[in-house]
Amino acid sequence: MRNFVDLHIHSVASDGDLRPGEVVRHAEMRKLAAAALTDHDTLAGLGEAARAAAHLKVDFIPGVEISARFTGGTLHIIGLGIDPTCRTLQQVLRDLRTQRNRRNPRMIAKLRRLGMQISMHELQHLGVGLRGAEAVIGRLHMARVLCAKGYVGSVKEAFARYLGLGRPAFVDKERLAPPQAMQAVHAAGGAAILAHPPQLNYANSSQLDRIVRSLVHDGLDGLEVYHPDHTPRQTRAYLDLARRLGLLVSGGSDFHGPGKPEARLGRPRVPVAAVEQLLARAVP
Ligand code: AMP
Ligand code: ZN
Ligand code: FE
Ligand code: FE
Repeated sequence: MRNFVDLHIHSVASDGDLRPGEVVRHAEMRKLAAAALTDHDTLAGLGEAARAAAHLKVDFIPGVEISARFTGGTLHIIGLGIDPTCRTLQQVLRDLRTQRNRRNPRMIAKLRRLGMQISMHELQHLGVGLRGAEAVIGRLHMARVLCAKGYVGSVKEAFARYLGLGRPAFVDKERLAPPQAMQAVHAAGGAAILAHPPQLNYANSSQLDRIVRSLVHDGLDGLEVYHPDHTPRQTRAYLDLARRLGLLVSGGSDFHGPGKPEARLGRPRVPVAAVEQLLARAVP
């Protein structure tokens, strides 16, 4: 009997540092019942992950994480159980990557003006493992290059000093409105999950309630109840909110590989029993 799952994981297809196949093999070693690959704005890792999972016991769930527009905080929509061949979703993600390709050189130029010499070429090589038009390059890659070149002591410091919202090298990127992000997930047959609710920076539980109700009105299917950043109290509150609004319960580690050691694959433990309804929908 396998009792736990991890439904939020990144690979080198975006800003993780393990290959999609390695991610799946780690999930197998941890004896997880199911694992979802949820790279930012790309489906590029899903084929390799699915092939790796084919002869293993872990159930592989194809996923994606999409940043949506939200004032005052960060709103990420995770799509679980998506069909990677869906043309609508593919096109939406291609557009988001085009936006990133406009933003990256602007952030590099700002870093240069601040005295840090980093190039697109270095981001592609130091930062990323999968190359090509479908791989996503973002701020975490920049943070790793700044670290490797000794400009900062840690990824955390890179965000705090230069790359974070409102810091001197930050450039915002064009995002989808939340309803569009959820529609793209639905077009591909997936369930739309609100990731890490604390990142919304809501002031109190009634504000959170309003935000989530409005997302439900626009198509939200589920809530990420379990995440390493959640306190036990938050986890209980999100579980309660999901029950009250009839939302699917999800959860995962937001694992990015050994380069971001705060997150470990399979932690926190997400009980299969808690996510049963979601698995019934998302496991191919
Ligand atoms: P981007 O999508 O390019 O704007 O980059 C966002 C990603 O950078 C997030 O998904 C995280 O992986 C990472 N990130 C954002 N803020 C921080 C932070 N303060 N410390 C470490 N990683 C971060
Ligand atoms: Zn990330
Ligand atoms: Fe996220
Ligand atoms: Fe994530």
